[in-house]
Amino acid sequence: MCAMPTMTLSKGAVDFINDEKLTSLIENTREDASRVREVLAKSMEKKALQVEETAVLLAAENPELVEEIFECARELKRKVYGNRIVLFAPLYIGNDCVNDCKYCAFRHSNKDAVRRTLTDAEIVQQVEALENVGHKRLILVYGEHPKYDAEYIAHTVRKVYETKVGRGEIRRVNINAAPMDHAGYRLVKEAGIGTYQIFQETYHHATYANYHPKGTRKGDFMWRLDGLSRAFEAECDDMGIGALFGLHDWRFEVLSLVTHSLHLQQRYNVGPHTISFPRLQPAHMVNLDQKWLVSDYNFKRLVAILRLSVPYTGMILTARESPKLRREIMSFGVSQIDAGSRIEIGGYTEAGDTQCMEREQFALGDIRSLDEVMRELLQDNYIPSFCTACYRLGRTGEHFMEFAIPGFIQNFCTPNALTTLEEYLVDYASPETRTVGEKIIARELAGIKDEKIKAEAADRLRRIKETDDRDLIF
Ligand code: SAM
Ligand code: SF4
Repeated sequence: MCAMPTMTLSKGAVDFINDEKLTSLIENTREDASRVREVLAKSMEKKALQVEETAVLLAAENPELVEEIFECARELKRKVYGNRIVLFAPLYIGNDCVNDCKYCAFRHSNKDAVRRTLTDAEIVQQVEALENVGHKRLILVYGEHPKYDAEYIAHTVRKVYETKVGRGEIRRVNINAAPMDHAGYRLVKEAGIGTYQIFQETYHHATYANYHPKGTRKGDFMWRLDGLSRAFEAECDDMGIGALFGLHDWRFEVLSLVTHSLHLQQRYNVGPHTISFPRLQPAHMVNLDQKWLVSDYNFKRLVAILRLSVPYTGMILTARESPKLRREIMSFGVSQIDAGSRIEIGGYTEAGDTQCMEREQFALGDIRSLDEVMRELLQDNYIPSFCTACYRLGRTGEHFMEFAIPGFIQNFCTPNALTTLEEYLVDYASPETRTVGEKIIARELAGIKDEKIKAEAADRLRRIKETDDRDLIF
């Protein structure tokens, strides 16, 4: 039975996106090097920026000034997140969809799309395939359809948590699904979701109306904009926002993401846990206006400026982008990436080495294996992490903000990153990846300042190598 959601908005819901104000900020903020440096100084103190301040950074065009922005973003990432990068994989559960988003191959009117929903047995099969290469964190993705109601989504989340093979298990299940009502959010929360992620796609009202036809479920701008506020009221306090870059002016979307983040912070005292900035990709039977496509250079600018505007929010860079660009942009403030991703339904066991456009939502730029991505991260001196400790110990929402402070990273995040990396190296890595990984672990362990924590971490790393002990979290 599919329950239709009620259409009740959050308490005192408001449309907090003022198109005229944001457009005017973009048009009327002139490049000013000394203002840029003042704003950068504020960011470097890890203070969230106001939209007017973000607009100052967006107005910087001079390449040398832009380079200063890039350098500050790199520095801020090092200060707040260190060199850890969290890894996850998307798992598409079903692509039936009642909406008709013009950019998406799953849209209702694309009669060529191969439609499929994984059966429970197929979910188990896909999860086992993901666990067998070492994944610990997934994001489940669904089209919008009455059959993917909150009850069904909760069921699939439970199925994923139940599936364990060998030493493999999924320790955190996030979801990217259409907005729900309060009761729906409570159901998925009870099933143990981590982050509830939803992208506004574009925050610009007229553009939104153009891409999401009236009369479709997604055609209701406000229902979607208010989605995370309802989630919060239903105690899903771990939220991910995002915009699909390429539908409207990228600077407008950046200002809107900052506005959304400030709105959640002011209203609920909790900002978003993550921001995503997917860029429009080619998709089967999709032919779009190219006017607002974002160049690689501007993409780098937007990632850096978002990093500087919302210092404590995780930033997700997806496999839509090419390996080369991902490698470069990683240092600008990214904290999470997906790897070894397949987005065809059933793709982890059926897709082989090529992409099949009729079966996927859009084309991926990076389909390297998890092991290959891990090796590259290690060679670039990152610590790839599968840590899920904060969420599992209740350090989310308000608490997450509290803990995202220096010292916490040294004493909790780094040791947890190292033990989860060790699990990967021992249980799943290729010999080449293991060799480079062990070197990084030795170096990072030596760098832990607190002697008690260092000794405890060393002991845990030894237990992982010598015994079956796993999931040893700080
Ligand atoms: N159907 C739900 C929804 O629309 O909210 C779940 C998410 S949808 C399967 C995942 C996301 O993919 C969308 O929010 C959109 O931003 C992104 N997407 C759709 N078409 C895309 C394209 N051609 N290129 C890049 N991203 C795309
Ligand atoms: Fe459906 Fe989501 Fe694609 Fe829109 S983006 S057509 S809602 S799957």
